[in-house]
Amino acid sequence: MKDYYDILGLSKKCSLNDIKKAYRKLAIKYHPDKNPNNKIAEEKFKEAAEAYSVLSDNNKRSKYDKFGNTNYNSKNYYSSNNMNVEDIFSNFGDIFNDEFEGFTEFNINTNNKKKKKKKFKGSNLRIKINLTLEEINKGIKKKIKVKRMKLSKGIKFKICPNCKGKGNINNITNTFIGRIQTTIQCDYCNGLGKIIKSIPKNANYEGLLEKEELVNINIPSGITEDIQLKIYGKGNEAPFGGNPGDLLILIKEIKHNLFKRKGKNLYYNLYISIPESILGTKKTIKTLNKYEKLKININKGTQSGKKIIFKGKGLPSINGYEYGNLIVNIKIWIPKKINYEQKKFFKKNKKDINFLPLR
Ligand SMILES: [Zn+2]
Repeated sequence: MKDYYDILGLSKKCSLNDIKKAYRKLAIKYHPDKNPNNKIAEEKFKEAAEAYSVLSDNNKRSKYDKFGNTNYNSKNYYSSNNMNVEDIFSNFGDIFNDEFEGFTEFNINTNNKKKKKKKFKGSNLRIKINLTLEEINKGIKKKIKVKRMKLSKGIKFKICPNCKGKGNINNITNTFIGRIQTTIQCDYCNGLGKIIKSIPKNANYEGLLEKEELVNINIPSGITEDIQLKIYGKGNEAPFGGNPGDLLILIKEIKHNLFKRKGKNLYYNLYISIPESILGTKKTIKTLNKYEKLKININKGTQSGKKIIFKGKGLPSINGYEYGNLIVNIKIWIPKKINYEQKKFFKKNKKDINFLPLR
């Protein structure tokens, strides 16, 4: 008679964890997928399953330790020879769950897979929001109206006839170590225990109907058009038993009449007159923050195209840790139309004001 500890290569003092580890190792080594048409490997595979089935069960293990495996020749236990590979997996599939990584390479048809709940997800909704640069600068909370498909409250349910409301089904199998009960998710109701009895007339065939809802959204400062905000669970709801989709928000930046944006930096064209550029002047501009004003000294002899940079007065980055710059572009305004008096002045003083660079 084989010794179960020998089969698994363990001592009598080994822990349950040792048994699991050893069995898993052997099961991978002798798995029929890895050893096609190899009778010896198949025998080893079955032997290991038999040893594992006894030693992993406290009760059976202590009996085995006391009386040896002769006890297992009674009618409650079958020899591993009568067991096929599929049985082994359906009965001990639980050991091949996620904590035993490395077994995924085998496509094992265990009931374990069916236990994972099938989830239906509602579809995503997309909306576009127009934002001013002021709003982008500060960040903004908005309440927006969204038309979502929502599960109708008038849906009536009944208990799933397949699982009697339990959501799962017990399978009892006779194996060489006795009766083994496995539980699988009910396919009929996807494990929910109830099914739809009737859907109200105004809802669609999935029990959904369109409803307008106010959704609060927090738009972070510094957002750009290439960032898509996602609000989890605020898309369309799923048919009964599923998770809602997400609400995706796209940003559209409204053109500002004074500021131009390039990433975090802001650009501002400041127009000065010809005498201002020659004599120098003081100017004040308002930033995107309502009450903030910046003073600008225009030195005498300022050329058109001069740039004045205000560090950190641009837009915040999306993470809020840094700010861009405000770049003020000085431009000398040349009037396109002048009145008669002005024309006379320029003609009269042409020689005196006709400044040109010396080359
Ligand atoms: Zn069911």
